[in-house]
Amino acid sequence: MSTYLITGIGRGIGQELARALLMRGERVIGTLRDPAQVPASLSAFAESGQLKLLTLDVQDGASIAEAARQLDEPVDVLVNNAGIIGQRNASSLDTDAESFLETLRVNTLGPLRVIQAFLPHLRRSKAAKIMTISSRMGSMSHAKSDRIAYRASKAAVNKVMQGLATDLQPEGIAVFAVHPGWVRTDMGGSGADIAVEESAAGLIRLIDGLSLKETGGFFDWTGDRLSF
Ligand code: NDP
Repeated sequence: MSTYLITGIGRGIGQELARALLMRGERVIGTLRDPAQVPASLSAFAESGQLKLLTLDVQDGASIAEAARQLDEPVDVLVNNAGIIGQRNASSLDTDAESFLETLRVNTLGPLRVIQAFLPHLRRSKAAKIMTISSRMGSMSHAKSDRIAYRASKAAVNKVMQGLATDLQPEGIAVFAVHPGWVRTDMGGSGADIAVEESAAGLIRLIDGLSLKETGGFFDWTGDRLSF
């Protein structure tokens, strides 16, 4: 049994990742912005104690620090899942600066601040891994201009993860960025390619298979390596 810390387990990919890992017998520490919003699929696990809930808003440094203070156990795998799509603009010319900054605070600085805060817990694991859910929409080869703040936030978080991989390699902590597929969630919409169960199953296979040898890489949910 390993311990997984997953941000944003109230819905979407985070909820399904938590459910599938709990069904496999793993321990999960799941974060929610609103502690009253425990999804029905996870409530029995929370009652049994296999799932520990923490209140955390990735935009709020104080809430991240408080959640880290409340946890006194090693973390083997940290999954930075929480994210927002931000302004659904048609082109970069329509971009609103405040909305852009919020998207960066959640999607780019959120994962960095969560890693900084929970590093002591990851250091207590024998072989810790960090998986940050990014997006192919942030790849430099995708020359599109819609949802530019989202694209920029994911390109930036990829760069941050690459840097952290270098910083943490000497300590044996592996860091990856992943694209989960185009997934039918509130964010992905009902017309997306794959179900949340398929994405989560692929991401769990990735976590299981990746090691320090691949640290700093960017992969999709099928295991294919992507270019930044
Ligand atoms: P959803 O919109 O379904 O869920 C987003 C999750 O993030 C919710 O749990 C939400 O919590 C949480 N969240 C949002 N803002 C914050 C915050 N400030 N602090 C803490 N939690 C927050 O999205 P998905 O499940 O589809 O996406 C999960 C990840 O996958 C994201 O990083 C997304 O960018 C990425 N992704 C998704 C794709 C898709 O096709 N769906 C494609 C590529 C990447 P709450 O319920 O409180 O709002």
